[in-house]
Amino acid sequence: MTPLDQVRDHVMARLPQFGLVDVPFDAAAGLVLAADIIAAEDVPPFDNTAVDGYAVIAADTASAPCLLRVTGEMAAGASHTEEVRPGCAVRIMTGAPLPSGCDAVVMVEDTERDGADSVRILRAVSPGDGIRRAGSDVRAGDTPLRAGTVVTAAVQAVLSTVNARTVAVWPRPRVGVLSTGDELVDDGSPLRPGQIRESNRTMLLRLVTEAGAEAVDLGIVRDDEAALEDALRDAVDNRGCGALVTSGGVSMGDYDIVKSVLSRVADMSWFQIAMKPAKPFAFGTLPGGGGTSAAVPVFGLPGNPVSSLVSFELIARPALEVMMRTSPTMSGRRRVPGIIDHGVSRQPDGKVHFDRCVAVWGADGRVHVSRVQAQGSHQLAATALANALVEIPDGPGVPAGAEVMVTLLGDGPHAGTPA
Ligand code: AMP
Ligand code: MG
Repeated sequence: MTPLDQVRDHVMARLPQFGLVDVPFDAAAGLVLAADIIAAEDVPPFDNTAVDGYAVIAADTASAPCLLRVTGEMAAGASHTEEVRPGCAVRIMTGAPLPSGCDAVVMVEDTERDGADSVRILRAVSPGDGIRRAGSDVRAGDTPLRAGTVVTAAVQAVLSTVNARTVAVWPRPRVGVLSTGDELVDDGSPLRPGQIRESNRTMLLRLVTEAGAEAVDLGIVRDDEAALEDALRDAVDNRGCGALVTSGGVSMGDYDIVKSVLSRVADMSWFQIAMKPAKPFAFGTLPGGGGTSAAVPVFGLPGNPVSSLVSFELIARPALEVMMRTSPTMSGRRRVPGIIDHGVSRQPDGKVHFDRCVAVWGADGRVHVSRVQAQGSHQLAATALANALVEIPDGPGVPAGAEVMVTLLGDGPHAGTPA
């Protein structure tokens, strides 16, 4: 058996390097900028008011409370310019350009309107108060965002403020997902003897999307070598897949065709990983579409649904992150120390057990985990309630209260104290 880290190293060393692509800024969510962004314009583009209130000459407010004459009004988007003369004020709304002659804005909360023509200023202001200067967020020529930055919602907003309409990014791989197995049914029809409902594909498609890649549904392929070979070729040659995720057919059974097909058409490695679940795992690279582009990695995940999930999370997801450069290494999901609330005994078997568990924040500020009740690799319903994997190292198990390593699968531990 091969330790998980060695398998990851093996995969990492064989991942293709994609060239950068130009995409519209609003299609770059979750991708990594491949070049620095240089601002073509000042942000904000002009001096403007940060508050709703009255544009004034600060010196006129020194003796506040005092009365000023209101001579005009400006709203955001105003293209005309009012002028503030001594003893006067211009009513102004947040975002409006500054009237000429003023050097401060008094917020409306510090004023009292006195009839149509006057306003009482209740608090003195200093020059610059209430004003946002042109370029005070980003100056033209500055580099607000560096290559390597992940395009989060806020980063995407910055791209729009500096008018970076098109940006260079590392591309989102198109990841084909297919299931293998003669027993699988996915059309809602009554089950005939020996059939089961297909479950891995919908899960893996979603996981691929959540990892930030583009998922391509390649359907179910029967346990037939020619059919699988056709499906793989079609995915690469005609459907533009830059990576493939298969489930099933990588164990020791006589119909484990993924293994045999990949051995023939791909540069393939076949692993027994020293972990449970998800011991069998196949990895290979197919020649790219048209024979010219980058090699296409194939992740051959085991068919048992829980194994498929764990194998995706611990190997395929980190690999996709490396390909998209959202992570420099295959470190994968956040792995943190936690406390296991109930002891677990196990037999030594040379494997690390990645048990599915519920992680919560404890009142002590630490992550606490409880294993879900059913740990079989077919018991998806129990796994679906888990939000983390807890590592039970090879050996006799761990006592209640022991420190353990926890891989967080989603947004992190639930709020609240452990039961
Ligand atoms: P395999 O790795 O093909 O030997 O499959 C292992 C187990 O997982 C078998 O019980 C399969 O029926 C089951 N299995 C394989 N693929 C799927 C799938 N896509 N959905 C649900 N169960 C599956
Ligand atoms: Mg099978």
